[in-house]
Amino acid sequence: MPLDIDTPPPGQCIFCRLIAGELPAARVYEDELTVAFMDLGQLNPGHTLVAVRRHAATLLDLTAAEAAAAMHTAQRVAHAIQAAFDPPGIMLLQANGRAGEQTVFHFHLHVVPRHRDDGVGLIWPRRNPPRELLETHAARLREALSGTA
Ligand SMILES: [Zn+2]
Repeated sequence: MPLDIDTPPPGQCIFCRLIAGELPAARVYEDELTVAFMDLGQLNPGHTLVAVRRHAATLLDLTAAEAAAAMHTAQRVAHAIQAAFDPPGIMLLQANGRAGEQTVFHFHLHVVPRHRDDGVGLIWPRRNPPRELLETHAARLREALSGTA
């Protein structure tokens, strides 16, 4: 089953328009495969988005080169955030599919400066299944991985 996403009409993807310069953006960095710009909704000062230049809805739609470039750009931006804003923490967040909390369906990665008690929440309802079940899950993933490049 594919991820549950919205597919905007041609020419209507907000990040494609922003990358093309049709919408304003406070750009931070760009290279052949990625563009980094300030998130309009700043969780903390310096909160930056790293998007791929080509329209690709989710992580699953990226080429290996785009995936590598996105993480490389995120690391560069994280270094810049550390130098410019000196936060005690930095969080990467990347969402895929509606159920994964994705709201703009063009691949992007958040680089978020974090501070103690900054009010940014992440609900993380951990479960502790039996060890045998973990082995079953791992076997399913190993099998799936053996079928991918
Ligand atoms: Zn797009």
